[in-house]
Amino acid sequence: MADKTKLLDINGLKMYFPIKRGLLKHVVGHVRAVDGVSFGIWRGETLGLVGESGCGKTTLGRCTVRAYKPTAGEILYYGEAAPTATGANGAIDFAALSPRELRAYRREIQMIFQDPYSSLNPRMTVLDIVSEPLVIHTRKRGSDLKAEVGDLLRRVGLRPEYMNRYPNAFSGGQRQRIGIARALALRPKLIVCDEPVSALDVSVQAQVVNLLQDLQNDLGLTYLFIAHDLSVVQHISNRIAVMYLGKVVELANSDELYVNPLHPYTEALLSAVPSTNPDISRERIILKGDVPNPANPPPGCAFHPRCRYAQAICKEQVPEWREFENEHGVACHFAEELSLTGVH
Ligand code: SF4
Repeated sequence: MADKTKLLDINGLKMYFPIKRGLLKHVVGHVRAVDGVSFGIWRGETLGLVGESGCGKTTLGRCTVRAYKPTAGEILYYGEAAPTATGANGAIDFAALSPRELRAYRREIQMIFQDPYSSLNPRMTVLDIVSEPLVIHTRKRGSDLKAEVGDLLRRVGLRPEYMNRYPNAFSGGQRQRIGIARALALRPKLIVCDEPVSALDVSVQAQVVNLLQDLQNDLGLTYLFIAHDLSVVQHISNRIAVMYLGKVVELANSDELYVNPLHPYTEALLSAVPSTNPDISRERIILKGDVPNPANPPPGCAFHPRCRYAQAICKEQVPEWREFENEHGVACHFAEELSLTGVH
């Protein structure tokens, strides 16, 4: 990690989607996709964000780049100005900006999408795709524009001579590289990577992850790296946040989280990660049922219907967020008492 100053602070972020019924489209409830999430992102770090599908991680990523306007909460962006000891000095609240005000900051935060097949317009050439943000946000045109696109393609391991081809001429891994080149075009500070390797062959996944790490080292990028697979995020993340039903339930340094999980949901996710030590056999924890409906979350701890350590209090009281040693945060009533199994 480059240095320990904040780039972003997400405070109490909520994203509720209305459920509408009937001819008059009355609002009869809300899907609480993100329900009061708070964490910071340090400059130059990779923060992994994991959880099963439907836990709200992609919605949180989209709120961060302001593809969605959050229902409530703050997304404080420090840009060049570091936060002072007194707090959010010099920060810009992305959540509060109008679309017009947001335009000036669009270049600072970019997103890489999960599916390299559907995220690239099949009717645009690679030149058009990668240069589009430059045309919108800069004055580069003509040969300058082509030279810039050529540099970007070289940076992501593609040959500039292919810039006049269409996406269908490329493999999945190459298409994801085109998406990365496009995300880099405006020299952003933060990139939200939304499951960037999950649609790719296993053999190609490591190449794309290595490329992202090299780009981070060369360009000083900061990543919010979304994944459903803990084994992918371990290698790239400095810290990992675990999300369940719209909330972050655990956040810790990546090594600490793997060895010493404090939340039963993290323990269950880790039980699916293969151990590197063949002498250690571990129980695979199969969670009962699916993630509950975020329009009607269970009372108390939302994980209690699937938690094998649940007690009476878990059905009634929402566990508070608490910080332990090594900046290890968790929301579980019994974090001190449980002796959970990690990966060794
Ligand atoms: Fe399980 Fe209770 Fe902890 Fe929730 S608060 S994770 S139900 S032990």
